[in-house]
Amino acid sequence: MEHLYDLIIIGSGPAGLSAAIYARRARLDALVIEASYVSGGQVVNTYEVDNYPGLPGISGMELGSTLRDHADRLGGQFVREKVQSLELEGPVKLVRTRKNEYRTKTVVLAMGAGHRKLGVPGEEEFGGMGVSYCATCDGAFFRDKVAAVAGGGDVAAEDAIFLARGCRKVYLIHRREELRAAMVLQEALKETPNVEILWNSVITEIRGETQVRSLCIRDVISGQERELPVDGCFIAVGITPNTQLLRDTGVELDDSGYIIAGEDGKTNVPGVFAAGDIRTKQLRQIITAAADGANCVTSAQNFLLTWKL
Ligand code: NAP
Repeated sequence: MEHLYDLIIIGSGPAGLSAAIYARRARLDALVIEASYVSGGQVVNTYEVDNYPGLPGISGMELGSTLRDHADRLGGQFVREKVQSLELEGPVKLVRTRKNEYRTKTVVLAMGAGHRKLGVPGEEEFGGMGVSYCATCDGAFFRDKVAAVAGGGDVAAEDAIFLARGCRKVYLIHRREELRAAMVLQEALKETPNVEILWNSVITEIRGETQVRSLCIRDVISGQERELPVDGCFIAVGITPNTQLLRDTGVELDDSGYIIAGEDGKTNVPGVFAAGDIRTKQLRQIITAAADGANCVTSAQNFLLTWKL
């Protein structure tokens, strides 16, 4: 008889890792399946995390590895494989990777979210050639150069502040005249002299030869277009949930592709729970992702009390 896990956790961001910690403490037979080489999810791309209680100013990479170490120390089981398909509706759920088929009674979906694209000409063509979605990963290539950041949320503000430390000049290009980033970040932006905010502006095209050389910017109020010379363009226009795998699994998604689930993580499919950025929620932060992981394990434990074939 093939092994049947109590719980499989898919994803190793703060939601998946906190689920792994709680599952070990509950002595569940649990396995975490992670796709990336580094645990921690999106947080590892953050230069500094200053709102996770108790760990002020920790780097995203360090927070990711600390969470992973915690799960390891408790004996968490991990495999690095990419999940290719899921069968979730029966009492025994199947999680298939290229190499293996895993069987489990419950699943926590914690695959997080990925970068939303701008969808303008040049974005794909210059990917890795001046177009980036990760300032902490690629910012060093733009030392003493001119960079642009597209977006008006926390990530765009953090990226602009981070890039300004090494770049000669940073343009923050936002489609409205108000940022949605946290006030503390807006204040920090104001105090960063080499950041210039281009309000009511959108990028309509990214241009260059082998590398990015300029952006076409449209003023959404006047309709005027102009060309802005830059060496790099960082795109921080939000996230989209990694729910592609869930097509045809019976798990209900909202119109934006997020799994419909509440605080207890319960989806419409019995035994399937959703944690972190992948689910419908008010606030997508590390702390709420970590809380989701804990809540999902509690829901899974309750479900397991009455599980039968
Ligand atoms: P976000 O908060 O959704 O912001 C996305 C930004 O991009 C918005 O300003 C939006 O403009 C703009 N935008 C969206 N589509 C666009 C398009 N097609 N063209 C131009 N601009 C576009 O996303 P995020 O900054 O990636 O953050 C994701 C989540 O993680 C958020 O919940 C955020 O709070 C959280 N987060 C928190 C922290 C922290 O607490 N330190 C750090 C990072 C991320 P509008 O404003 O006009 O909609």
